[in-house]
Amino acid sequence: MGSGSSSEAKEVQSAPPTARQTPKQPKRNRQFEEVQIAAGTSSRARSQGASPNPGSSSNRTPRGQDPGASGSTAERRPKEQTSQRGAAANASNGKKDPPEQTPALEGVKLKDKKPQSQGRSANMPAQQKEDDIVFETFYHRSGKEFQCIYQTGMRFYLDDWGSKEWQPFPKRWYNEGLLVTNTILKDDSQQEQAGQSGEQGAGASSQGQSSKSQGRSRGGGADDREGFLMHPTRGRIPTYIFYKKHNVHMYFDKDTGSWVRMPIGWELHHNMVKSLVDQVEEAVPTWGDRQDILSLLRACNYDPDECISIYLHLQKDQWMKAPKTAKEGKAMEEGENRMADLEEKVRKMEIELQKERTTRQEMERNLEEQMTKYSELEVEAKEWEAQLSAATGGRPMSARPISRMHKAGKGPPPKGGKGKPVPMPQVEETVNPDDVLDLDANAKELRKSHTRLKMDVERYMGDLKHIMGQIGPTIKQLKLSEKSSQGEIEEVRALYRKEAIQRKLLYNQLQELRGNIRVFCRVRKDDRAESCLKFPSDTDIVAINPQQGKKMFTFDRVFDPNSTQEQVFDDTKSIITSCADGYNVCLLAYGQTGSGKTFTMMGPENNPGINIRAMKELFKVCDEKKETMSFNLVVSLVEIYNETIQDLLTSEAKTLELRTAGNKVNIPGLTEYPIKNLKDVQTVMGLGDKNRSVASTKMNSTSSRSHLVLMLAVEGKDKVTGAITRGTLVLCDLAGSERISKTEAEGQRLVEAAAINKSLSALGQVFTALRSSQLHVPYRNSKLTQILQPSLGGDAKACLFVNVSPDSYNFMESVSTLQFGANARQVALGQAKQNISKGKG
Ligand code: ADP
Ligand code: MG
Repeated sequence: MGSGSSSEAKEVQSAPPTARQTPKQPKRNRQFEEVQIAAGTSSRARSQGASPNPGSSSNRTPRGQDPGASGSTAERRPKEQTSQRGAAANASNGKKDPPEQTPALEGVKLKDKKPQSQGRSANMPAQQKEDDIVFETFYHRSGKEFQCIYQTGMRFYLDDWGSKEWQPFPKRWYNEGLLVTNTILKDDSQQEQAGQSGEQGAGASSQGQSSKSQGRSRGGGADDREGFLMHPTRGRIPTYIFYKKHNVHMYFDKDTGSWVRMPIGWELHHNMVKSLVDQVEEAVPTWGDRQDILSLLRACNYDPDECISIYLHLQKDQWMKAPKTAKEGKAMEEGENRMADLEEKVRKMEIELQKERTTRQEMERNLEEQMTKYSELEVEAKEWEAQLSAATGGRPMSARPISRMHKAGKGPPPKGGKGKPVPMPQVEETVNPDDVLDLDANAKELRKSHTRLKMDVERYMGDLKHIMGQIGPTIKQLKLSEKSSQGEIEEVRALYRKEAIQRKLLYNQLQELRGNIRVFCRVRKDDRAESCLKFPSDTDIVAINPQQGKKMFTFDRVFDPNSTQEQVFDDTKSIITSCADGYNVCLLAYGQTGSGKTFTMMGPENNPGINIRAMKELFKVCDEKKETMSFNLVVSLVEIYNETIQDLLTSEAKTLELRTAGNKVNIPGLTEYPIKNLKDVQTVMGLGDKNRSVASTKMNSTSSRSHLVLMLAVEGKDKVTGAITRGTLVLCDLAGSERISKTEAEGQRLVEAAAINKSLSALGQVFTALRSSQLHVPYRNSKLTQILQPSLGGDAKACLFVNVSPDSYNFMESVSTLQFGANARQVALGQAKQNISKGKG
């Protein structure tokens, strides 16, 4: 916090009032009451339609008394007086803060404006509450931050949280930095106004541009992930930097002893990566550029399917659009069935064709054999004929051979002889005329069979030709359709892969959105009061007021007044126990004082809340895993009051400092208490309670003005591998979120209010930034968000309990609390919508 500001204060013409002085200056206060405040756009007031009716201070909660513990006095405090949450963007609007004007002069001027605007500034929304104090943060260009309040046309800044000295805001500062209104409840118009105020302030500043961007990122209003690029052919393309977890391929560098990101040229020689690139290259041979493929593979977490799908998507002209309707899905299915039928047909025809081929080959073989036989026989026949003609001397073969008769000694002797036998040539002795006749008959038979065979072959060949002529075109057609079907199948497969990837991405996004921040609503039991709440289902809650009408909110779960501590715990059990698996888990209770935050988180001894039950469950989980794991549980308890952290497990008044490194937060000197069983837990809680009440007495504060943070570190060691998992469970009972009116805003109370406003605004901004995945999550804006950083960002799981009272008397506060919870939930849905519209634009 800034120091040496007294010199700045001297520049202001009016006497610098201090916080202590403020309430003790009845004159000033009276003047304030008379002046109609032109600034102050309370988000609360806007959302609820509060009437501008400043109340008296008679119902103010006595200091040092916990209104919650005493039957929720604060909860019953008239709404008009419990205005703490001022969020007047206009207060920081340059129009209202001309640097030349002193705050006092402005007050007079505003008074003059009354008749024209019925006490409101022209920019003031109809439902604005006029006695709201506006809390602001001033970012000085030196890097220092100051908490400011704007009240009845005057602006003060807090010199130091400890000193509680409110100083008049030096007019010189309007040129030296940026004023941003603290907003607990975020809505679009408010963000816009905050942005405008930032721009106005920055306009007057010599460092306008830097101040503006600084303010935007701190306020979390603008989306720094959004942008565009000018494509040479596609024109203006909207872009968005999404948050994704990524695999990063590193190599170990011996020189520096550290892991270094692998250059793309090296990675192409890595076996596993090489095969992935090959896979993509094979699927998309037209791509060609291996470095390019690897770059996209890196961006796709080394998933070749996704890489291919993205590439193909970019070539979408050649690709069908993904099926979106049931009709298209059905058509795809029918296509696949048709394909299967066609494939089956092709298979059958191919079998038939094969059979035909075999038959033809067999026939050809037969024919060949017959032909060979025939030509052999022909040769033989020719030989015989030759022999025969040689033997018969040209006699016809049909004549009876003489030699045969002679040999048998039958018949007349040959003519020309006188009883003396005529010697016959030797050959005539060997030729048997019967054999010749047989042979002749055989030859004739063979000729016939040859002719028959020839005819058969010709007939078969004709048939074959005919068959081939018939099935040829069919086969051709089948082959063609097979080819096109294969293309179709590939296309359908690519589409399916793409669809599956998209579904997976969406599912992951949904899980991230659903899983990381859950919002539960718990309604306090109150039998005496008339309830303004209805519960249509276990996720919906309706707030009803005759004047305001109905307002419905949806949460991950709504616990009605009859819900028990067991039921509430059961729904958070799985999240809580995941800290034994190394997750950081955070549970927060938000709501007005007396709405049941402490009851939910801590609970009474005989009916404990989440904390004791959580630790009991964790002991059980650790015990179940004791065969393989050993656990160490260490607990710490701190209180955050006026932006200072107090260790509650030590009796010495010890203020702690936070050291952040990346996503880790270290609190040097924090007392850590090892716990082994429930008795240890009770000892720790008792000690914490005692120290808290001592501290609050010393500071004259109440427990509802501070945040109580219980931190449980769970370290598990795998008995086999030695691997260590570290998870933390953080249970946070937040300070009361109710507004305070300016009549209550005195001295210490005003500083407390500013501190609560600052930290709850910061919490809201962190939720917004986390839900919309902004690059900059403004954890550093308060001690509360800083301490919660490891349990809110990254892989951490957070549950926000919004605690409300059913009493219709508290309608305004309840609606405001429900709105805070709904905002934490709705940002996610809004973001999803926003992305879609960005895609179109
Ligand atoms: P907070 O912490 O929000 O100020 P408390 O938890 O102290 O509120 O609750 C105020 C009072 O209401 C306490 O007396 C508490 O016992 C009681 N109370 C709160 N919630 C319930 C509940 N669900 N059932 C019964 N009593 C409750
Ligand atoms: Mg409490």
